[in-house]
Amino acid sequence: MATEKIRTRFAPSPTGYLHIGGLRTALYGFLFAKKGGGDFILRIEDTDTARYVDGSVQIIYDTLRDSGIIYDEGPDVGGNYGPYVQSERKQIYIDYAKKLVELGGAYYCFCTPERIESLRDDAGNLRYDKHCLKLSKEEIEKRIASGEPYVIRQNVPEHGTGTYHDLVYGDISVDYKDIEDGILLKSDGMPTYNFANVIDDHLMGITHVIRGTEYLSSTPKYNLMYDAFGWERPVYIHLPPIMKDAQHKLSKRNGDASYEDFVKKGYVKESIVNYIALLGWSPKSNTEKMNLSELIENFSLEGINKSPAIFDETKMKWLSGEYIKAMTFEEFKECALPFLKDSKAYGKYDQDKLLAVAKGRVQIFSEIPSKVDFLEEFAEFDLALFENQKQKSSVELAKNILPQIKETLSAVTEWTNSNLFNALVELAAKLEIKKQALLWVMRVAITGKESTAGGATEVADILGKEETLKRIDFTAELLNK
Ligand code: GLU
Repeated sequence: MATEKIRTRFAPSPTGYLHIGGLRTALYGFLFAKKGGGDFILRIEDTDTARYVDGSVQIIYDTLRDSGIIYDEGPDVGGNYGPYVQSERKQIYIDYAKKLVELGGAYYCFCTPERIESLRDDAGNLRYDKHCLKLSKEEIEKRIASGEPYVIRQNVPEHGTGTYHDLVYGDISVDYKDIEDGILLKSDGMPTYNFANVIDDHLMGITHVIRGTEYLSSTPKYNLMYDAFGWERPVYIHLPPIMKDAQHKLSKRNGDASYEDFVKKGYVKESIVNYIALLGWSPKSNTEKMNLSELIENFSLEGINKSPAIFDETKMKWLSGEYIKAMTFEEFKECALPFLKDSKAYGKYDQDKLLAVAKGRVQIFSEIPSKVDFLEEFAEFDLALFENQKQKSSVELAKNILPQIKETLSAVTEWTNSNLFNALVELAAKLEIKKQALLWVMRVAITGKESTAGGATEVADILGKEETLKRIDFTAELLNK
């Protein structure tokens, strides 16, 4: 094993959008393969036609690409182990199912649905009774030749225990008496997941199988097949569940958000991937903010936790904010612009100035409108806002100094944040009042708000000279009413 090239795979079923748990499985497979210089493969498991949702394969491709989880082989990129879509591998499964029958690991079953139903016990449980295992070779051949429908079932030993070592959960043992002779090949020739995953993982040279804990107890039955075929078992790594809270699993069935939803909500993409990586894995160092290449560098299977991970959106939001802080203005602008368009202020003021006010004040892009909308909400307001003991501001002060603020601002020819600021600081000195008091008065006068993203001169700069002076007149009139 030591010199073998690592090959991992992500094997989603196209049943809707790619949920967070699925993306985490993909990410760990990718990180582990890339860290070890191996290959990461995408395989579409679409044999359950009843659960197939149109368009979901495309969502899988798009999500993986968009999040940077690039697969080396897959349906749309090709590779030497294709086809990578299970429905295109039907004949392979049929051939291997027949081979497994010859090897004694499976058998033909002709039981009708009615007969199967009659096996249900009083508690409602149904378990196949190996009835068809007793059929002679001749009889089987005769019935197949006559066109009778059949399935192929796994022949699970009636006694004994299946044991294997999982890299996260340790030694796992399951009594064979607790495993049913499940269907491997359905009457329409389609394999079940239980069969196809074994055949494909072997034929595609998968060395490490990384998937959710829901497969922990089924793995002994897969091992029976590896053993029957004489194939080497892969290394197993089962991942802890991701919970919404202590009781509930995060699940797409409950409508919990997907990667796409979080992107739409305005999370920085890298922060979503970064946060998902931390759901069930702890890095050795205390650094939590890691981009994809840092994740590859730091990832290790030893860091995968057994206990369920709780999805904490507040933490992901914090991480997103950290990524925004680290962005250059141009990077921020590229991602933020579509969100700024939802703001009332969009199109009315200089775009870059609006974005500069928002950057550093938002954790996710969708918060941008709420940071700049105030610019367009100026209307009659409660004059009590001028009262602020801490800033040494009052209605009285506002009345007194607003005319002088106007005069000072009118004289500013080059209307920039710093020119405005310097002029007002000078005025405060002249009036012998604290500059905070003056700036408080000014900001309330031109916004009518107790708090705003951006200080007085920053806001005035965005509003422009004409609008600023107009607002000061409006407020002066309010004060003198
Ligand atoms: N198609 C299975 C699923 O979506 C894959 C499980 C596995 O990785 O083996 O759950």
